[in-house]
Amino acid sequence: MSANNQPIIYLDNNATTKVDPLVLEAMLPWLGDEYGNPSSVYSLGKHAAAAVETARQQIARLIGCAPSELIFTSCGSESINSAVLSAVSIDPDKTHVVTSAVEHSATIKLCEHLTRRGYEITWLPVDSLGALDLERLGRAIRPDTALVTLLWANNETGVLFPVEEIARITNRCKVPLHVDAVQAVGKLPLSVNDLGIQFLSLSGHKLHCPKGVGALYINGRMRFTPWLRGSQENSRRGGTQNVSSIAGFGKAAELAVAHLKENSSHLEMMRDRFEAAILNSVPGAELNGDKTKRLPNTTNLAFEGIESEGALMLLDERGICCSAGSACTSGSVHPSHVLKAMGFSNHRARSSLRFSFGRFNTDEQVDFAAAVVPEVIAKLRRSSQVGGPVIMAA
Ligand code: PLP
Repeated sequence: MSANNQPIIYLDNNATTKVDPLVLEAMLPWLGDEYGNPSSVYSLGKHAAAAVETARQQIARLIGCAPSELIFTSCGSESINSAVLSAVSIDPDKTHVVTSAVEHSATIKLCEHLTRRGYEITWLPVDSLGALDLERLGRAIRPDTALVTLLWANNETGVLFPVEEIARITNRCKVPLHVDAVQAVGKLPLSVNDLGIQFLSLSGHKLHCPKGVGALYINGRMRFTPWLRGSQENSRRGGTQNVSSIAGFGKAAELAVAHLKENSSHLEMMRDRFEAAILNSVPGAELNGDKTKRLPNTTNLAFEGIESEGALMLLDERGICCSAGSACTSGSVHPSHVLKAMGFSNHRARSSLRFSFGRFNTDEQVDFAAAVVPEVIAKLRRSSQVGGPVIMAA
């Protein structure tokens, strides 16, 4: 229930997702009597080790790689850090990294850290639809480039980068490519072996698994230096494995494989219905980002004349959860770096909202949200015209 005792309508599935009851069921034995350490040699340990290996196979099937090419991590951010730090540590003469201006904060903060350590980062720009200029990518790669690291699907707009074409360029230039596929996995069909990429990061909690588990694909021919040292995961990631979450992640991957097609068309149908209703009923509402080359579940909309923070509060009063095109840190509101990189003004970034649908959303929820959002926007516009305070919805 929301603060106002309204049923929750969760339209923020790019932030995290509800745990699937089948995933929870797959996790429970490993939180109960099956508490062995997968590194132990007796049966209790072997059961846990077998559960970890089953999950590795399930996830390998989801992304189209060999199970031995996957290591488990604690989250997508750890996978990203591990891939990038490994790639830059291989040759001390390669001190240049190519990325984009619209990456997730895990990549941005890491690249900023590398800059302070003497690396040079090329931040590729995007156009007003959020698309990357591939010619510019080709020109950015140099003899001292250690890695190209790019998103597959943008978490804010859902806009997709053309990973196949990007991989063709990086392979031609013989530079490793890391793909942040945290938002893409489970929503799009993908096969890393066909793509010929070197690293791919994924995260359980975007896939109806709990927070705190991720995985990193490392191409079998790629050299890898662990970030977290220890004997587990074939000495590629130290730390006793989080067996229950890994088992859940495996189940989530199995479910994603089994239902990928129907899930993504259901998501697209809900998203498109909602988006069309809003664009038709809210004067001046506009889509941020490419309408076709994007995730099936995401819409990012600009509503002239409002502040997104106020909209989030009013929508929360009605039980609707979504995200703003801005982030609030220490009391100040920063416009989204993604929308800014697409050339939008601070004002447009501050008046944008992201709605991201998930497989547990229903058509009734979509209709309810499509009716409430225009009311909230109208209320905010009225209150900003009279200059008065925003009146919270009943
Ligand atoms: N990359 C993208 C595109 C994301 O959306 C996120 C999470 O929002 C991450 C990386 C980080 O994943 P995690 O929350 O598992 O660290």
